[in-house]
Amino acid sequence: MADRAADCIFCAIVAGEAEAQKVYEDERLVVFMDAFPVAEGHLLLVPKRHSKDLFETEVEDLRALIAVSKDMAEAIRSELAPEGIFVCQLNGAAAGQTVFHYHMHLIPRNPGDRVRPGSQHGRIRGDPAALVRVAARLAAAL
Ligand code: 5GP
Ligand code: ZN
Repeated sequence: MADRAADCIFCAIVAGEAEAQKVYEDERLVVFMDAFPVAEGHLLLVPKRHSKDLFETEVEDLRALIAVSKDMAEAIRSELAPEGIFVCQLNGAAAGQTVFHYHMHLIPRNPGDRVRPGSQHGRIRGDPAALVRVAARLAAAL
């Protein structure tokens, strides 16, 4: 598996060639705001090394990503105080995957919200200024 795939938007974000509101970065992974959030604080955790899905992703990247997911969930909880946090990761178009570079979603949830991840995500672009503000709050909470 090459580190980078051509025409992959997440590889372009990792390389700094496409814009994203980053919250966290280390040698293995980057965390940024979903540009089409289904809830305020919707985060994507993305290994830097390109892999299509769970099956292709190195276990060391997965371990690092799970550990960071806990820190991110803590930051979401302390800054945004949702009643719950939905964690999901889609493999294959049949499962609803639309970007074929492995990633995990963290989605704050509250009773009565109308989020339906896996079927209606990634449709409405978030307000860029709001994404910048929330990214800064979450980064500061780490
Ligand atoms: P998937 O359906 O593959 O699990 O989720 C892909 C996610 O990537 C969607 O929630 C979608 O909103 C998000 N996304 C797609 N393109 C971009 C982009 O260019 N930048 C960012 N930050 N998120 C994106
Ligand atoms: Zn990629």
